[in-house]
Amino acid sequence: MLKKLFKSFRSPLRRGKHVHSTPQVLGRSQHPIERNEISRYATSVVERLQKAGYQAYLVGGCVRDLLLDIDPKDFDVATSATPEQVRAEFRNARVIGRRFKLVHVHFGREIIEVATFRANHPEGDEEENSNLASRNESGRILRDNVYGTLEDDAQRRDFTINALYYDPSTERILDYANGVHDIRNHLIRLIGDPTQRYQEDPVRMLRAVRFAAKLDFDIEKHSAAPIYKLAPMLAEIPAARLFEEVLKLFLSGYAIYTYDLLLDYGLFGQLFPASAEALKANPDYTDQLIRNALENTDLRLQQGKTVTPAFLFAALLWPALPARVLKLQERGMPPIPAMQEAAHELISEQCQRIAVPKRFTMPIREIWDMQERLPRRSGKRADLLLENPRFRAGYDFLLLRESAGEQTGGLGDWWTRYQDVSDSERRAMIRDLSGKDDGPGAPRKRRRSSGKRKRGPGEGSGGPAGE
Ligand code: ATP
Ligand code: MG
Repeated sequence: MLKKLFKSFRSPLRRGKHVHSTPQVLGRSQHPIERNEISRYATSVVERLQKAGYQAYLVGGCVRDLLLDIDPKDFDVATSATPEQVRAEFRNARVIGRRFKLVHVHFGREIIEVATFRANHPEGDEEENSNLASRNESGRILRDNVYGTLEDDAQRRDFTINALYYDPSTERILDYANGVHDIRNHLIRLIGDPTQRYQEDPVRMLRAVRFAAKLDFDIEKHSAAPIYKLAPMLAEIPAARLFEEVLKLFLSGYAIYTYDLLLDYGLFGQLFPASAEALKANPDYTDQLIRNALENTDLRLQQGKTVTPAFLFAALLWPALPARVLKLQERGMPPIPAMQEAAHELISEQCQRIAVPKRFTMPIREIWDMQERLPRRSGKRADLLLENPRFRAGYDFLLLRESAGEQTGGLGDWWTRYQDVSDSERRAMIRDLSGKDDGPGAPRKRRRSSGKRKRGPGEGSGGPAGE
């Protein structure tokens, strides 16, 4: 597919950092995109806007992905119509966003996102007097609603490969920023001055990594160079936006590669400070656990299975728990309350960075609590646990811990077998436990917390500290 694209694309490729005022145009025969690969709703939105006298194109990820023979995740439209004008054209449209206003046109479950052409921001006083655009002292764009021409719109997009416009009516592609050239060379390149573009929106650093992982592209060296130094700017990004970005980073099927890049560029510690500390304190175990969790995630997605952000966050944060539990125990707190308190603290701290919604933080706690309960199997406990809606996640999490080298005394195997066997065999398994059932990871009853250091979750025989 790529070969076909580039064989037929004969115009000389010009190099240059900035956007051209006249685009390179790829006609129907010069690119591989077929109209039938495009959502009919997206095509109809574009055609409807064009009929009403506006300019309209498909833009961004969908054009990029189609050129790379990847199924686009969604279809974005760029138009000269303002959000209000777009809304007036469609019955099923809603204006959304404040920082960046756009229109969602709904077709059943499919949403076509329509954005009005934006211009770069006016500088200085002009910007100060505007309620459409604003920046803070570090150059971060707080509001981005200055409309402009198609050329302006190409200029303000993040990467060259994301600044390609496709017109389904003429089947032509407009390339203002040598995006086709960079697709051919597998390069993620920012449009304009990289430092300034990251300062305007530090999330672009995460996007660079995300696209590099997803497309298996390199980040072009000038675009890569400032990332490490500017990574701390992510602290300025609202926690809710970072949550969305982190989901895209880890739940797109390329989590392992993404994790490596985040580490390389110093971005991981900005997103997960406690996990980064655990990586320093206990590198092998922590890295292995995170890696195994991400590998599972990628695999499940590949197999079309569901993944829950709760499991992922539970895994990312788990290695950071023992040190905190220990600290609380050293202050005299008994193991179970120390575990509860440490879990609570860790999650609240993480939520200040990345706003994980309650519907996910609750299950994180439940998965962790389950780790305390899985070793206690006597009497009816094992059967009660099996009935617990969180059992499966808790059991998977136990296997994950074991896969990273935690010693649990064969607890994972025990539970695997228990789920498989008949009722009478289960009874026998419980009988065989006789006294061993509060094995590794389970709290010792009635042990006071004074004196010797106590075992917390992930410590001692059952813990990630792997003593
Ligand atoms: P995908 O949808 O596959 O994740 P995408 O490139 O379509 O990738 P979106 O987040 O859907 O990404 O954004 C659509 C387009 O909007 C991008 O291709 C890019 O042109 C532009 N864009 C998105 N976020 C930014 C940003 N932070 N700065 C500049 N341009 C952006
Ligand atoms: Mg998109």
